[in-house]
Parts: sequence; C-alpha cells; structure tokens
Amino acid sequence: MSATLGIILKELNPEITIQIFEKLDQPGLESSDAWNNAGTGHSAFCELNYTPQKEDGSIDISKALKICQDFEVSREFWSYLVEKGYIKDPSSFITRISHMSFVWGKDNIEYLKKRHQLLTQNAMFKGMAYTEDRDQVKEWVPLVMNKRDSKSPIAATSMGIGTDVNFGSLTRQMMDKLSSMPGVRVHYSVEVLDIDPYKKGGWIVETKNNITGEEEDCITKFVFIGAGGATLPLLKDAEIKERKGYGGFPVSGLWLKCNNESLIEQHNAKVYGKASVGAPPMSVPHIDTRLIDGKKELLFGPFAGFSMRFLKTGSRLDLAKSFRIDNVLPMVSAGLRNVPLTKYLIEQVRLSHEDRVEALKEYVPAAKLGDWELKQAGQRVQVIKKDHGVKGKLEFGTEAVVAADGSVAALLGASPGASTAASIMFSILPKCFKKESKSEAWQVKLKEMSPSFGVMLAKEEALLNATRQRTGKILGLE
Ligand SMILES: Cc1cc2nc3c(=O)[nH]c(=O)nc-3n(C[C@H](O)[C@H](O)[C@H](O)COP(=O)(O)OP(=O)(O)OC[C@H]3O[C@@H](n4cnc5c(N)ncnc54)[C@H](O)[C@@H]3O)c2cc1C
Repeated sequence: MSATLGIILKELNPEITIQIFEKLDQPGLESSDAWNNAGTGHSAFCELNYTPQKEDGSIDISKALKICQDFEVSREFWSYLVEKGYIKDPSSFITRISHMSFVWGKDNIEYLKKRHQLLTQNAMFKGMAYTEDRDQVKEWVPLVMNKRDSKSPIAATSMGIGTDVNFGSLTRQMMDKLSSMPGVRVHYSVEVLDIDPYKKGGWIVETKNNITGEEEDCITKFVFIGAGGATLPLLKDAEIKERKGYGGFPVSGLWLKCNNESLIEQHNAKVYGKASVGAPPMSVPHIDTRLIDGKKELLFGPFAGFSMRFLKTGSRLDLAKSFRIDNVLPMVSAGLRNVPLTKYLIEQVRLSHEDRVEALKEYVPAAKLGDWELKQAGQRVQVIKKDHGVKGKLEFGTEAVVAADGSVAALLGASPGASTAASIMFSILPKCFKKESKSEAWQVKLKEMSPSFGVMLAKEEALLNATRQRTGKILGLE
C-alpha cells in the first residue's frame, strides 16, 4: 500500500520528498508476501462473499461490481509501471489463471445459477461460464471431481481472465524503483514508534533503528500509515478524532500446501467455495494454483489460527496494548454480537492436521494426509468499528481513515486488500492533497496512470473491452 502511494505521489509531483520507514530489513515481507496471502487478483469473478444473498433470497452484486472495477484500475496502474520501465517483467508478479466458483447442494446451486445470471448481464462479467455438468467440471478441475460422490449435484462457474498476483514481488519492485528516485529515502530496519502533532503544524514521526538503537524524529506535513496489521495502533497514537472507536483483534492464517508435484500439475485454477455458517467472509475456502517465483504451487485454505500479534513479526502484547477507553466497549460488544464467529474461531484453533485434510476433502475428495503440509499465512487484524453508541461492528472490507484536514491517512482491513491498492490510494488523494488534486497537471497524470479511475466501467462496455485488451497485452495475460 505504501509503495503504491509513494509511486503515485512521485509521479504526480516529481519534486515531492518522501521518507519511508520499514521495520524489517526488506520490503513486502508481511501480509503482502506471496505465501502470506492467497495472491488472488480479486475481481469478484469467483469470491461468493462479494455477492451475498439477502434474507429475501435476492443477491446483492454491488460489492462485486465495485471490486471488479477497482481491479481494472490496478491492472491499468501496473501496466503504467511496466510501460515506464519501472517493472521489467510483468510475469514476475502477475499470471493469468481461471477463477472458478464451485458449490454443491440444492440451495447453493440455485444461488450460483442466480448469481451467474445477474453478473453476466453486466459487461464486466461477460464470458463467465456456468455448468452443472460433471464432465465439464472434470475437464476444468480434475482434482476437484476425482472420487467425488456421483449422487451429490454440483455446479460451477469459470472465468478465464482471472489472475494470480505475487504482491510481495510487486512490492519489492516498486520499492526498488522508489529508492532510486531523487528525493526519496527508504530506511530499512527502522521502526515507527509514535506519531505526534508538531507544534508548528504537521507531524513528528518518532523512529528507532532496530540495529543501532538510534532514535530519530522526522517532521512532515503528511503521514500515510501503511503498516498492515500494525496500522491500527499507530493510528491510535496519532491524535486525530477519526481514530476513535476503532479496535481490532488478530486472526492468523494457515494454508495446506501441497508437496506432491503430480497433484500440483493437475490443477490449473483458483476454485472458491462457500463459507460455512458462522465463518467470516475472509475464511471462504479455496483451492488455488499459485505461481510463486516461477514455481507452480497448490494451496488450500485459509484456516484461522490463534495469535495475539498484529504482525507476523509483532509482539504477543499487541492485542492487550491496543485496548483504549474509546474502544473497549465496541470491542466487547462486537464479540457478544458475533457469537457464531467467536465459536467458529475457537473451533478453527482446535483443528488437527487430520481435521484440516478432512476439510480439504470437500474440494479434493482423494486428498491424502502425506501430500499436504501446514504453512503459516499472514496476520489479519479484524477491524471493529464503533457502531451506534458504544456498540461495535465488524468491518470486513478495506477502509482508508483520513483526518479531517487530510494530514494523516491510514489503511485498515484486508479483503479485497492488495488487489485494490491502486484505487484506494487514488481515492485518498482528493482528501489529503485537496488543491493539487484539482490541478490540470495532476488530472492529466492521473488519467495516464489509470484512464478508468472514476469511470463506471460497468456502463462503458467499449472502454472496458479496450482497457482489458490493452492491459492484458502489456501485462502478458492474453
Ligand atoms: C491469509 C490472507 C490472505 C489474503 N489473500 C489476499 C488475496 O488473495 N488477494 C488480495 O488482494 N489480498 C489478500 N490479502 C490481503 C493483503 O495481503 C493485504 O491487503 C495487503 O498485503 C496489505 O498490504 P499493506 O501494505 O497494507 O501491509 P503489509 O504488506 O503487511 O505491509 C506493512 C509493512 O509495514 C511494516 N511495519 C509495520 N509496523 C511498522 C512500524 N511500526 N514501523 C515501520 N514499519 C512497520 C511491516 O514490516 C510491513 O512491511 C490476504 C491477507 C491474508 C492475511
């Protein structure tokens, strides 16, 4: 997120000076690193949690339309980076892979059919195939159909233009470019400890070098807090009124990683199912082909794990330290109001390897224990936001919090996360750089970086097709 914003700002104003503080010795090693997330280029082609079914049975596709549009903006921004020569080889971070949804059971099949009908009326989802034919699904994903109960009806959709993204590699390449730009200083192994208002206006960012122990202050007019799971505590440190009422609890992620090359070779899709009752949207099960540093991989998950840390490299005290007077009640209330989620998390933590492979068998019926090993994914911090009065509600999206005067912006939440980084960062600009954003120079440059930002692509079929064709070519996705 920070790398994306850094490049955008530098392109808009080459004179701007930027300091980036990263507590680790390399960038992109937390949530953005390849194995720490699922690498799905979220376009809402396959993620059923983006098209929830309402109590009256109707399906709400508004979130899917927004996410699909946002991913086109990401494709445009990444194409800009390639065209400028900032990233030499797009295959180092993005690959084309079919995005499929797969369900069983009468109600789920009915839902998927209706979802497909609704989505394919829109230009963005044209080309999505739907089938209840077992042979067709077997052709698409043999592993999912091998030894499957022939009496249980199934249905699937498939969208051929989905993507797998290595966000870690993308981040490192953007940070390399940023480091080489005049006016940008990137400090590795330097941790931000606090963010305080500066008496003459702006902010003092207090930092500590984790190798030398040296502490240093940086005075700035604008701060972006892009610290992943650690954003929440840093936002709490910055004394702005918008921080109030936010809380969060960490949920660690786990994958089953396949170690059988022949199985890995047989699967060529990202296949998303339906979350079980009580499970949060972030835990929708999926069996995914990945391409990580040139090697094909296969993962299943995510499973939730227990952790008190806000980052993989965080501290066991992170959760305890995050309680403040303004968020205790919302946090407790969110827990009490989400009993099925609490129950789900407790059950997840108690799963054994055998239990996890049993869960995998719903997607790969012939799965064998020895072919799969457990791999730690990234940390998510489930954001809790003050609702009415002291009540707290869970926030499952990705949310930018911006101070009223625009001098601080912070990014909270995970899904759809990295896939929509470009559009989230574009959308904070008018709030943080009000005057400059209106200038012709910025408007022209913004259009160059993303011609579709701010355009309703769902209603502009010709433009959508043109941009998909162009970015597909530049990113090597054709
Ligand atoms: C299990 C899982 C699956 C996911 N799947 C997907 C997916 O399929 N598709 C998708 O688009 N998104 C997915 N996401 C979400 C995605 O990973 C995140 O939205 C994205 O990586 C967040 O990027 P970030 O830059 O905000 O945070 P991060 O990548 O975590 O980067 C934050 C950086 O800040 C540094 N930092 C933290 N605190 C400090 C400090 N005090 N001082 C200095 N530096 C600090 C950290 O070391 C880190 O380098 C998933 C996340 C998880 C956990």
